[in-house]
Formats: sequence, C-alpha cells, structure tokens
Amino acid sequence: MVKYVCLRCKREFDETQLAIMMTVRCPYCGYRVVAKVRGEEVKILRAI
Ligand SMILES: [Zn+2]
Repeated sequence: MVKYVCLRCKREFDETQLAIMMTVRCPYCGYRVVAKVRGEEVKILRAI
C-alpha cells in the first residue's frame, strides 16, 4: 500500500486524499512537499 507523509506536519495520508487536492499537497497543512512511502522505499515529491 502506498501512503504519503507530509514533511512539515509529519501527518500521514493516502492517494485518495491526494487525488481530492488535484496536486501534491498535504491535505492537513497545505505544504507542497510530501514523501511517498511504499514499503521501505521513500520518494520525495515536490509540487511545482
Ligand atoms: Zn502537512
């Protein structure tokens, strides 16, 4: 399962919540840099 972690508030959310935002952005604080976590792999995503 893929999930995301905000790099500012550290809260976790999933793809469904990201899809609602229509962009890469934390649904809690609006921060535009989140980490995508899949298993042990972490990938940093930045909104343009
Ligand atoms: Zn956040």
